[in-house]
Amino acid sequence: MHKGKSRGGSHKGRPRNAAAAGEPVNAPFQKNEEVTVDIIGLTHDGEGVGRADGFTLFIQGALPGERVRAKVMKVKKQYGYARLEEMLEASPARVEPLCAIHKECGGCQLQHFDYPAQLEWKRQHVVDNLVRIGKLKVAGEGSRLDGEDASASASASAGIIVHRTIGMDEPWRYRNKAAVPVGVSSTDGGLLAGFYARGSHRIIDMDDCLIQHEQNDEVIRVVKRIGRELGVSPYDEETGRGVLRHVMARTGVVTGEIMVVLVTNSKKLPQADQWAERIRQDLPGVKSIVQNVNEKNTNVIFGDETRVLWGSDVIYDDLDGIRFAISARSFYQVNPTQTVELYRKAVEYAGLTGSETVIDAYCGIGTISLFLARHAGRVYGVEIVPEAIEDASRNAELNGINNASFEAGPAEVVIPRWREEGITADVIVVDPPRKGCDPALLETILAMQPERVVYVSCNPSTLARDLRVLEDGGYRTVEVTPVDMFPHTVHVECCSLLVRQD
Ligand code: SAH
Repeated sequence: MHKGKSRGGSHKGRPRNAAAAGEPVNAPFQKNEEVTVDIIGLTHDGEGVGRADGFTLFIQGALPGERVRAKVMKVKKQYGYARLEEMLEASPARVEPLCAIHKECGGCQLQHFDYPAQLEWKRQHVVDNLVRIGKLKVAGEGSRLDGEDASASASASAGIIVHRTIGMDEPWRYRNKAAVPVGVSSTDGGLLAGFYARGSHRIIDMDDCLIQHEQNDEVIRVVKRIGRELGVSPYDEETGRGVLRHVMARTGVVTGEIMVVLVTNSKKLPQADQWAERIRQDLPGVKSIVQNVNEKNTNVIFGDETRVLWGSDVIYDDLDGIRFAISARSFYQVNPTQTVELYRKAVEYAGLTGSETVIDAYCGIGTISLFLARHAGRVYGVEIVPEAIEDASRNAELNGINNASFEAGPAEVVIPRWREEGITADVIVVDPPRKGCDPALLETILAMQPERVVYVSCNPSTLARDLRVLEDGGYRTVEVTPVDMFPHTVHVECCSLLVRQD
């Protein structure tokens, strides 16, 4: 979700013209006024939702249950924004963020929130979306024992069981991938690399990110140092000039293998050989050094052209005993510990006995597909990025799995064609990007009538929207398990089970 576009649907009723003009018609406050505010919730992007004199104020950094003194910064007709000035009553769930650049960096929105409270908030956030956007009925947390059949234990009228969020024992240093923009320091003109400041494109230089694998931090530091020594010019979004746009570091957490990707603004990377040699010197674990060319004026990190500067075109990692080759442009879940939790849940929800045909839509490098293939008769995976499909086929072979096959293309085009070719599915698994499933894919699922649908989602609002479509088409959502893939951020992953109502 992007800042400013939607605020979780809570202001949908506001008149468009007044909102557009931004006129404070009913607001009891004026800009710069100081007010005492009670915080009653958190928005989907982690801002405190405050109430003062019946008026809603969004306050960055404030937590539910707190009372704060805040300065009104912006007033609209039905809500406004205020800046936290003084904590009057702090929440017992407030903690001191461990990260030195937490305040400026836009990466972790919830580091000031106790970890168990984050997990509870994420579950509630999922429930709120299911109810508000999906118009679905939620029963509770559920107490189902592992192995018990969910579809039998939840009666249709009771509503969806939304389980507790599966959290991490050690919710730090979990990311296997860092992709950061490169810029120039306004103080010494040197190379910077780090995340953007909250709500802006100002780069906050980062040497140590506490949610990042240490090796990835090391890659970023090394690339910055080499870039300074070789005098590389960083890309400038405004002018479109400069060479180096982004650095991507990816670590195979089990294998220790490192991939470094330099995203450049032109085909030519000056001193490319020097780059490769110095990276190898400074990072002995490196297995793959890759250049990706992105000549477009866009926020998208990668361009279409990738070439290996040194080493392999992939690195390897293991998930639950399955080995995966991962190339630069392929999607690979960033938190391997929680990925295993998520995929095991997807396999459990698929309810396989060994003979079923399963379709894995949005399959990436075939991760969920291969987890499923161990328990299914046959698995078909589809994914839009051709390199990812090459990885997926390679991964099936690498693991001696011969009941999975893959095809590159849009799921909403390929699966209807499979249907015409006579392929049927007992279970369809979907794991779409944030925008959710294409309507044509949902239609095809309803036409194919699999017994179960397993919906893996990284965005509760599009999940809720799509579940509504599937429910209207004859499916019942039995249970949803939120998984904390991204501790200290507002993001939450969910695995949902739907069954066909006969
Ligand atoms: N299931 C995989 C990937 C999930 S991410 C995993 O767990 O690793 C979503 C994937 O959907 C990405 O790989 C993205 O490239 C792909 N994708 C995006 N739009 C698509 C579409 N219309 N059809 C098929 N795949 C698509």
